[in-house]
Amino acid sequence: MEKILLHGVEWQFALEIIGRTIIMFLLILLVLRLSGKRGVRQLSLFEVAIILGLGSAAGDPMFQEDIPIAYAVVVLFSTVLIYKFITWSASKSLRIHRILEGKEMTVVENGQFDIKHENDRDFSVMEFFAELRNQSVEHLGQVRLALLEIDGTLSILFYADEDVRYGLPLFPGAYKQVQVDETTEHPLACMYCGFVQPATSSVMESCVRCKHKQWTIAINTKRIS
Ligand SMILES: [Zn+2]
Repeated sequence: MEKILLHGVEWQFALEIIGRTIIMFLLILLVLRLSGKRGVRQLSLFEVAIILGLGSAAGDPMFQEDIPIAYAVVVLFSTVLIYKFITWSASKSLRIHRILEGKEMTVVENGQFDIKHENDRDFSVMEFFAELRNQSVEHLGQVRLALLEIDGTLSILFYADEDVRYGLPLFPGAYKQVQVDETTEHPLACMYCGFVQPATSSVMESCVRCKHKQWTIAINTKRIS
């Protein structure tokens, strides 16, 4: 244990590490300020990649005796230059922007989940239930359009109260499967894609949009009642 923790420690260099760490820390702060980012709440994938690179370049000289801090300074400032150049190119060209950051994706349209991404491996309808609930969406019939932005946040446009339709409930309790072989007085919502069949129709067994066979009772509550 002592070998792992203290093998070959030179106490004088340990003191030097304190000085190196303070310098590198101040340098990182300076470089991040120069990058022009105002915070880190929503980083794009590209920015995460840049920050990982910065972190590695900044960390090593803190305790590697044979790396002069001057080298790290060169790496840090080149990275900022590259970052500035690429973000500038992305601001000039939508195509470069799309390549770097990806593209926003429609999640809900006209009160139903958009299922054209159904075969994308990284798209799962279920993961949006919590996101929509977080934004106080009780059922899909309230939502005209929901977009998944490239930074991972969800933007939602709501129907006006008088336009709210029957939709798939998103909260547990209301979201539970009902049998459809019996007649029902309620409109039913497909538990997978949000398609709603009206109460008057002869009950269909599988959804016309997605072919799934699980149905729940649709609701049409207003946003604030
Ligand atoms: Zn369906």
